[in-house]
Amino acid sequence: MINNVISKDPILIVGGGPAGASCAWKLASAGIPCVLIDKASFPRDKVCGGALSARTAKVLISSGILPPEELEALTLAEHRTISLWNRDELLRTFTSQGTPVRIISRREFDNTLISKAAAAGASIVTGEAVVSVDPSSVTTSAGKTISFSNLVGADGCGSLVRKAISSKRGRGTGMGLEYCIPLTDLDEEPEEIQIHFGYFPRGYIWVISDCEKVNIGAGAVGSPALPSDIIFALSGFLEARGISCEKYQLNGAPIPSLELDRNLGKGNIYLAGDAAGLVDHVSGEGIGHAVESGFMVADCISSGGDREAVLNRKDCCISIVRQSVFYRHLLFSPFTRRIAMMGLRDNEEYAQGYWNIISGKESYNEMFGRFLQ
Ligand SMILES: Cc1cc2nc3c(=O)[nH]c(=O)nc-3n(C[C@H](O)[C@H](O)[C@H](O)COP(=O)(O)OP(=O)(O)OC[C@H]3O[C@@H](n4cnc5c(N)ncnc54)[C@H](O)[C@@H]3O)c2cc1C
Repeated sequence: MINNVISKDPILIVGGGPAGASCAWKLASAGIPCVLIDKASFPRDKVCGGALSARTAKVLISSGILPPEELEALTLAEHRTISLWNRDELLRTFTSQGTPVRIISRREFDNTLISKAAAAGASIVTGEAVVSVDPSSVTTSAGKTISFSNLVGADGCGSLVRKAISSKRGRGTGMGLEYCIPLTDLDEEPEEIQIHFGYFPRGYIWVISDCEKVNIGAGAVGSPALPSDIIFALSGFLEARGISCEKYQLNGAPIPSLELDRNLGKGNIYLAGDAAGLVDHVSGEGIGHAVESGFMVADCISSGGDREAVLNRKDCCISIVRQSVFYRHLLFSPFTRRIAMMGLRDNEEYAQGYWNIISGKESYNEMFGRFLQ
């Protein structure tokens, strides 16, 4: 799987998650040599709910990186039903007739994407970190200096590449935490995706089964909630359901509340995925945006650095994330939260709209546009 011959001044991609692997796959598939470097050895785990929206499935299938049968093989569970809660009050259970939300294992999913990039001809270096970034070269943990023609920062939330080109820091804390509980330890399997609002500001607790285990996690983006508040809320949620937290490992990772980089970097240095701040501020979704932005960066590079056409694509992930930054106030602000909860409880169309958004069927603007008509 691993090709690791490095040509002179290559296109260098730092990070082999969904953003970096998709970028490398697209470049290599177009016959453009590139090198991807990741500090981890694959397969590796990534703290994540592993939920793929219908929008993400469409991006994966239509690009050709994952044909339908391969996406099917990676899918552990499909969910069409969601229950929405305001703390312990059930607001509504909603079943969609449309495309499902799929649950995948990040270990398998990310390993498949990076294998695809290698098979397409990208050179892959794993188990080696980039430790410093200069304007035309990087230094790795093995002491190598690699000069580049273009650099892609797909190195996740704490992106070193982003720090090298931007003074913009995160606003507030974004944090995701999760327990994975074997189904055999539970009295019954939750059949639907559960979303519980109201436990802490600007976030929610989720319950998602992948048919073998149940992921019970909590996340907040751009939130004034401290990680300790989220841990407290999550452990209280579990204990109230008779699940002893002490038995299970708590895993956590930051969720970018970095300011969105609408230009995906600058000059010959590009950013994709979490490194660009491309996470939905309502749902916390980031896998699909990582894949899509990886492709967008590959398109910018292969068009000789012409960002304009690529960045202005209608309804691209940048536009969706920008909308989510605006609309999260309706759902999470102390002034409108009560109205939003009542809307979800009393009006089926709100629940349908919320499902349309998390399953990627509608943009925020389209949904709120319908309500204003
Ligand atoms: C608890 C939690 C639950 C989530 N659940 C969901 C979900 O259900 N659905 C969803 O769509 N999104 C979810 N997300 C968000 C999603 O995980 C991210 O948005 C997504 O992983 C971003 O992909 P990426 O490729 O940009 O970054 P990553 O997946 O983080 O990949 C970055 C890669 O860069 C490598 N790297 C980092 N620094 C260096 C360096 N210096 N040198 C070399 N390599 C480096 C890392 O090893 C890693 O492999 C969740 C996040 C959290 C924290």
